[in-house]
Amino acid sequence: MTNKAPLNSAIGPNNTTRSIRDRVSRRVWVAAGGRCTFCNRWLLDDEITGQPVFIGQLAHIVGWDTTEGSPRGSDPMSVDCRNEADNLMLICYDQHRVIDSKSLWDVYTADRLREFKRQHEHRIKMLTALAHQDSTTVLRLVDTIHGSPVQLAQSAVNEALVSVGQYPSYALLGTDEYEIDLRKLPGEKEGTSLHWIAAVECIRDRLGRLGALVADRTVVSIAVFPLARIPILIALGAMLDDTVPTVVYPKRRGGKETWGWPDVGTDQDFEWNVLDSGSGAPTQATVLFSISGSIGRERIPAETNVGARVYEISPADATPNFDLVDTATSVDLFSRCWRAVIADIETFPGVDAVNVIAAVPTTIAVAIGRSVNASVHPPVRIYDRVDHEASYSFALELPR
Ligand SMILES: [Zn+2]
Repeated sequence: MTNKAPLNSAIGPNNTTRSIRDRVSRRVWVAAGGRCTFCNRWLLDDEITGQPVFIGQLAHIVGWDTTEGSPRGSDPMSVDCRNEADNLMLICYDQHRVIDSKSLWDVYTADRLREFKRQHEHRIKMLTALAHQDSTTVLRLVDTIHGSPVQLAQSAVNEALVSVGQYPSYALLGTDEYEIDLRKLPGEKEGTSLHWIAAVECIRDRLGRLGALVADRTVVSIAVFPLARIPILIALGAMLDDTVPTVVYPKRRGGKETWGWPDVGTDQDFEWNVLDSGSGAPTQATVLFSISGSIGRERIPAETNVGARVYEISPADATPNFDLVDTATSVDLFSRCWRAVIADIETFPGVDAVNVIAAVPTTIAVAIGRSVNASVHPPVRIYDRVDHEASYSFALELPR
């Protein structure tokens, strides 16, 4: 049964109606954003037919009179106040039947309903406070990781952005599930060069489309949510351009999928050291990024040791671990340290390759790529950890 009661009626048990003053009903409808306080259903049109009928109902929290059949009607609230906005919620017919059914009065107490109303109206107010200029374009990158295709919930992305005062735009999405989806590319589990090459081309293609949207001002800022192996993340960073503000979001560790920095974090600085100055004039540079874990020199491929100047970047005054980087400032401090290493490498003109061996969190991986100016620096070769082994092997060279 669909209720076609006018906007300014409240419905009671047995479908009796009571008219509510226009001023009051308008306030409740607007505060609720035209959506059900319980299920968030849109109440201005019928969902199936699209007909513009009001399928919402104004429901009393404390029933409108004190007789026995009035839900929560025995509450001490004075009868004069019961038709005011504070005591009325906008809900759909289905939920209205639930909260008013006598067997559930103990469950849907007046206090509980007030809390539902408060939370719903607060959420509507917060979301509608976002203005057009607060929109940011979402760029999700997903791949298979060691054979398992990753998933990335749109709701978790939306939550992360709304919590920092931005609303998500999916302008880049088209009909695909994700903005950059590498999961169908072959060879990830085996780590074949084909996978890395195809991934880089796929990212380049999608970022080309993004570039066009930036150029015509459809996109004014970008929010990146990446879930992929380290070499792919570094390559993504190298291909992102800095024309518009671009923020990379971390996925938090733990059960429920949550993105973004924790409310409280500690800024972590980094330091670099030269482990091996190379023999005479070095012909290559090898950089170990010991951040989420330590990379011992014995674990790096022999070819990256030959004639190499070997650096290590590690946390200052801290042991490498997975939870070390939990603020955006820490990523900036890392980038500054990495650029200092690049500047040092540039003082050795004989160096014609830079090898990157990284045990890092995702945001740092993207930051490694972003600091590399491929048109100036020697080729940057990314190594990846071999599945289930402690050693590293060559994966890809950063695109130029
Ligand atoms: Zn509902």
